[in-house]
Amino acid sequence: MRFNPKARLDASRMGDAGRSGARSGGGGRGGIPIPGGAAGGGIGTLIIIVIVVAASMLLGGGSDGGGQATETGRYAQCEGVVDANKSADCARVAIENSLTDYWSDALPAQSGTAFEPERKIETFTDGISTGCGAASADVGPFYCPVDKTIYLDTTFYDEVLERQLGGPDGGFVEAYVLAHEYGHHIQNLLGTMGKVKTQQGAKSDAVRLELQADCYAGMWAKAATTTQDVDGNVLIEGLTDADIQEAIDAATAVGDDRIQQSSGGDVDPESWTHGSAKSRVKWFMTGDENGTLDTCDTFAPGAL
Ligand SMILES: [Zn+2]
Repeated sequence: MRFNPKARLDASRMGDAGRSGARSGGGGRGGIPIPGGAAGGGIGTLIIIVIVVAASMLLGGGSDGGGQATETGRYAQCEGVVDANKSADCARVAIENSLTDYWSDALPAQSGTAFEPERKIETFTDGISTGCGAASADVGPFYCPVDKTIYLDTTFYDEVLERQLGGPDGGFVEAYVLAHEYGHHIQNLLGTMGKVKTQQGAKSDAVRLELQADCYAGMWAKAATTTQDVDGNVLIEGLTDADIQEAIDAATAVGDDRIQQSSGGDVDPESWTHGSAKSRVKWFMTGDENGTLDTCDTFAPGAL
């Protein structure tokens, strides 16, 4: 992926909590993590976590809750005309800008639903307190619908995806991950999360929600090179077949069957929360080929 070195970046929705966001007693799972695993939280879990967070705040324990973590200023260097090709942090900003530009047009045009950007993409190290509870890096990137924020520990790409899951370590992997999480934000705006009644199993609503987020990521990938900055300059100059292959490899690596295999367990579709490697790739490609919300209807009868 090649960014336009002359694009004007907007870092206003980027935040970084550094290590200060860490909080004792982590391990909360409230959001929509990408690799999932057996304990991927649903709305039920999320409501319980929100109640716990609210209670702990009333007791004076969670003053940094709800994504109010101290900011490190990590993205200040990425405001204005900046060459995103030279900095992983600024590349993240450019991808965010591209996703926001794409969906600000595509969502109202295709659904009639008003677009609103995510509140923030918040990076952190080790752990963070969020509107969906405390999170540690091992949950992977996730979207919290309560505070409309995408959270990611930026060490995830090296440590988890590469070493543990055997995924690729390429430039487009993060774009795929962010586009997937942004897909959950779009689902939140569309009210799709309310459709999730069944949490586990190859054809569960939770899996349908995840595969749809993969499809939405593909929709963005199809249009990524047409997205623009505030001045009307293209944000992303080039996206190659190799980039798309990296997204496909990443989607494969985070398939529930692959995760179960790589953690030494049996492959058990009954426990799936995100879908098989094959179906994750299939739905990413469906979005990438068609570019429409309608073709991403994973909840339709017979879709899976
Ligand atoms: Zn997800």
